Amino acid sequence: MSHPKIPLAAIIGHPVAHSKSPKLHGYWLKEHGLEGHYVPIDVAPENLEAVLRMMPKMGYVGANVTIPHKERALEIADQVTDRATLIGAANTLIFLEDGKILADNTDGYGFIQNLRNGAPDWDPTAGAAVVLGAGGAARAVLASLLDVGVPEILLSNRTRARAEQLRDDFGARIKVIEWVQAGNVMEDGATVVNTTSLGMTGKPELRVPLDGLNADAVVTDLVYTPLMTNFLETAQAKGCTTVDGLGMLLHQAVPGFERWFGPRPEVTDDVRKVMLR
Ligand code: NAP
Repeated sequence: MSHPKIPLAAIIGHPVAHSKSPKLHGYWLKEHGLEGHYVPIDVAPENLEAVLRMMPKMGYVGANVTIPHKERALEIADQVTDRATLIGAANTLIFLEDGKILADNTDGYGFIQNLRNGAPDWDPTAGAAVVLGAGGAARAVLASLLDVGVPEILLSNRTRARAEQLRDDFGARIKVIEWVQAGNVMEDGATVVNTTSLGMTGKPELRVPLDGLNADAVVTDLVYTPLMTNFLETAQAKGCTTVDGLGMLLHQAVPGFERWFGPRPEVTDDVRKVMLR
């Protein structure tokens, strides 16, 4: 079966109306003069498998999946990339020519690309990383930091058991730190990452003390609304190099767009500006 002339892709979530992905892929489709479409589809969990199986027959070449479908999509897929297996969740699905579903996870890739672009001198091997939070996004951050050679990760989460689970899954380079002690290990971080939702518009502030931050640390936040969180502002005031979270969202979308539509899109200042509107 050959793909139809106008390729379709989607973001599948529940809810999904808030997603910025249609705007991003729509921008790139227009920029490249392509005739594809990228749409948001709200799918209840009990319908996910039936919808995914139907989509290739409807002209879809792939989809992004977001909360709450990332783990289930991995189980449904016929083939899974190594990095999706490692992370334990999918965010990018490719519908193969024979209708089979390939699951990938590009969140870790997006996270690292964003750091490399935003802090070109960043050396992951320079020292330990301090990672705050042990939710879904933290899995991709940990997997990718270990992959690029961070020697040790000091991981702290309000619910300690979730951090311990990640240490069990990812191994001995991860050391779990009590949430109330997180401020005390800031000085050990060459890379410092907030993967909690704290600091996001409408959520409480991150209250971990940041006095210990080293001026030569690279500090990044996954939260991108607001773009300049208090966490990043404080780090900047300490002289740290800071990288905001919007770039991760943009970079994680690059491999999917390329697989579905052909050209490899670029993360430019222009696309950043469009996404902030
Ligand atoms: P999640 O699975 O719900 O995890 C939320 C995390 O925040 C957990 O570690 C949770 O700790 C912590 N947390 C929430 N409220 C807290 C509080 N009051 N005090 C202390 N810790 C608290 O969410 P996620 O999918 O990992 O996403 C986390 C954030 O990253 C969100 O803001 C999301 O928008 C952002 N994100 C950004 C990108 C990007 O491309 N830039 C990609 C993915 C995610 P407990 O375990 O104790 O509940």
